[in-house]
Amino acid sequence: MDDELTITAILRRAEQFSPDREVVSREPDRSLHRTTWSAIGGRVRRLASALLGLGLRPGARVATLCTSHRRHLELYFAAPIAGLVLHPLNPRLRVEDLAYVAGHAADEVLVLDEAFLPIYEQLRETTSFRHVVVIGAATGEAISYEALVERGRADWVPPDLPERSTALIGFTSGTTGRPKGVEFTHRAVALHTLSSSLHGWLAVRDTDVLLPVVPMYHALAWGWPYTAALLGAGLVLPGPFLDPASLLELFDSERVTLTGGVPTIWTGVLHALDAEPKRYDLTPLRAILSGGSTAPPSMIAGYAERHGLNLVHTWGMSELMMGAIAELSAELQQADPEQQQRHREMQGRPMPFVEIRAGGEDGFVAWDGESLGELEVRGPWVAREYLAEPDASARQWTDDGWFRTGDIVTITPGGYLGIADRAKDLIKSGGEWISTPALESALAAHPAVAEAAVVGVTDERWGERPLAVIAFHPGTSATPDELREFLLPRVARWWLPERIEIVAAVPKTAVGKFDKVALRRTFTSRGADS
Ligand code: ADP
Repeated sequence: MDDELTITAILRRAEQFSPDREVVSREPDRSLHRTTWSAIGGRVRRLASALLGLGLRPGARVATLCTSHRRHLELYFAAPIAGLVLHPLNPRLRVEDLAYVAGHAADEVLVLDEAFLPIYEQLRETTSFRHVVVIGAATGEAISYEALVERGRADWVPPDLPERSTALIGFTSGTTGRPKGVEFTHRAVALHTLSSSLHGWLAVRDTDVLLPVVPMYHALAWGWPYTAALLGAGLVLPGPFLDPASLLELFDSERVTLTGGVPTIWTGVLHALDAEPKRYDLTPLRAILSGGSTAPPSMIAGYAERHGLNLVHTWGMSELMMGAIAELSAELQQADPEQQQRHREMQGRPMPFVEIRAGGEDGFVAWDGESLGELEVRGPWVAREYLAEPDASARQWTDDGWFRTGDIVTITPGGYLGIADRAKDLIKSGGEWISTPALESALAAHPAVAEAAVVGVTDERWGERPLAVIAFHPGTSATPDELREFLLPRVARWWLPERIEIVAAVPKTAVGKFDKVALRRTFTSRGADS
């Protein structure tokens, strides 16, 4: 009972019980590299000992600037089991933000894909890594990754680590402000892995093949590299190729059973499937997880009705990886189809050990599926503070240790969360709330609409009014009046946006969410429909 819950134990499990299970990784030249958990384990030990050979102290931070591939996977294990801390950086952040984040986390080593060397050239002016390791051809003072692995010892034995030592650092994606860092301990990762794998949540077993589309630098790929290892599942890593055709090819050729990513990815994939419904065999694909922002009900229905695919809503945050999944409870499986559908459109029930409550104006709101409040969570893998940000931490955590998510939710009597909005995105018009995700979902149901984002703009009479920014599927369009007409039976009349702006593509944040800060900046000082 005194055994510590560590990532070392997760890797040992994969090596001992699923040594031959495959890990497939898309290389920069698009070819597929095949290896096994056993081979990965050997390389991880070499890499871990080589990292320590660089003279790093326990707890030193190793940053990565990599897409999702096998060597990034090796680092996911090697740094933590060596007693170091892995910090995956998001290459799509602006260089200033990257420098800020790396400095804030005190990163000492940077491991990067050769393709990101141009980013490093800009970064080096404002950062000072002690060691730079390049996956690919290294130049100057940088070391090549393979040369580093070569230096390590295959017979190296990982040290015993306390489960509460830090294993990973992740940063929020900065949708609502400057990125903030959170630390995850070995224990947090182990419990997150176990809980998310359970039946009723991901229900992962060794016959599964997982393909995380969510990149390894976003919310730590929802912990899926560890989930695959602990449960002995196959793992497919898509490299830099996240376009619909590349993903669909992999789902088909690798017999993927479970995948997950943000809704903007799934919108594109659905469009590609609609164009060529017979091209791919997706029979083994038992669930497509969608999280990070609201999955429009029309998209969930599109997958189910046109392609027989199960798009499952999941709710997560950088501060906790995965938190809730919209699988139907035993009771709901007996319920009528309409009720089932309503629950699938919600963000789901929290995983075991995650506790929730929602704070309203007079205390905590009732779990009646209607009352709105700000979601607060706690649990063994929910961060307890932001890295070196005492003021932000004091604002975001209650005195009794609950994390204030900033999400405005309803909770049903059965514990299903429905996200009505983010506190910062809520539109208050004439004293009444308008839900931006609900309005976006209603617009997204129009056949010509590829992307719909809604933001609030100041209005003299009403305080605020919704403004919709729309991108159409290629070769289709609709006028603002037609869109309003389409909305009329679907939302309250006073929700109808007076301003509808048409764009080629809605700007996105570094993790592929609609960039509402940029939208407000661009559109708030302009006039009516353009
Ligand atoms: P950021 O807060 O910077 O966007 P994250 O990527 O951690 O960083 O985003 C977490 C937020 O994403 C949640 O607080 C919530 O607002 C939103 N979110 C996550 N999953 C869902 C979902 N299934 N539906 C709606 N919103 C979601």
